Amino acid sequence: MRALFCERPGEVLLRELPDPSPGPGEVVVRVAAALTCGTDFKMIRRGHPKIPFPARLGHEFAGTVERAGSGARFREGDRVVPAVSGPCGECPDCAAGEENLCRSAFEQKAWGGFGDLVLLPPRVVDRALRRVPEGLPPRCAALLDPLASVVRGVARARSPRDGKVVVAGSGPIAFLFSVLWRRAGAEVLVAGRRSRQLGLHRRAGARTCDVREASLDSAVAEWTGGRGARLVIDTTGNATVAESLLPLVARGGELQLFAGMPGDARLSLASGRVHYDEVTVSGSFHYTPREADEALGLLASGAIPSGDVVTSTRPLAEYEEVFRDLSYGDAMKTCLVP
Ligand SMILES: [Zn+2]
Ligand SMILES: [Zn+2]
Repeated sequence: MRALFCERPGEVLLRELPDPSPGPGEVVVRVAAALTCGTDFKMIRRGHPKIPFPARLGHEFAGTVERAGSGARFREGDRVVPAVSGPCGECPDCAAGEENLCRSAFEQKAWGGFGDLVLLPPRVVDRALRRVPEGLPPRCAALLDPLASVVRGVARARSPRDGKVVVAGSGPIAFLFSVLWRRAGAEVLVAGRRSRQLGLHRRAGARTCDVREASLDSAVAEWTGGRGARLVIDTTGNATVAESLLPLVARGGELQLFAGMPGDARLSLASGRVHYDEVTVSGSFHYTPREADEALGLLASGAIPSGDVVTSTRPLAEYEEVFRDLSYGDAMKTCLVP
């Protein structure tokens, strides 16, 4: 089998490996579709605090069970999609229904989707692996992970009482936020610098602001009658951008830091905004099994225009070109097929 590895920052290569065989409770999945994600690019550029090099890449994938170990509740031929983490199910966070905060959730994970086969550990098989609903193609099912994160982000935020949401960043996560907030009845303004992505947002029904050409502050002021936005979501993971968003938030509103930032990132906040203006700065990380179920239900119902999120399909062997195009271009996600 082949698997895509990042050997050290900037160095990616397709390696040959022996086929894995599943132990008790484990399952080997033959990948049918794996999607690119900003996390892969961050890993390639600067490494990942929780994943040492050399590391396999790809974590948004769907496929078919190739072999199941003893006791695994799946059979050969089952079409499956994993949620990424395997929470322990026993710690206080898991007991409280906040499995996304389980400290050991990422000790067992579904990782390595850019390859022919992936061995899934027992906790992932038990708690994170799901059957793909009838009729849902693998490239759509593979959106489970990013969509579940966005489902949580929406659930964590206070609904903006004026029904207006600003999303900073125009990539796939911003698109999913825009879809879900508009389904909830909100109007959405997406701010970004990639024209093709902004075009997809407009076509889907969002307002956009191209920050290369216009001031986001003025666009938000005009849109909200000078009051600012009740909910602003950062999907860029850029501390400078996140700091620049605080002035856009209305009094009593919320800034949600959705995207992860480098481990040493610090934000400086005007404390008066938090105290006198009662602006809430909140976060949202990963998702629980229930949010993964909700995401899969949304995908199965056709509520997500997945063709606007997964904008192209290419063979895995063309990974170099795909990664180059995605870092410099402005496509959304590419589906890599082994
Ligand atoms: Zn991802
Ligand atoms: Zn736990």
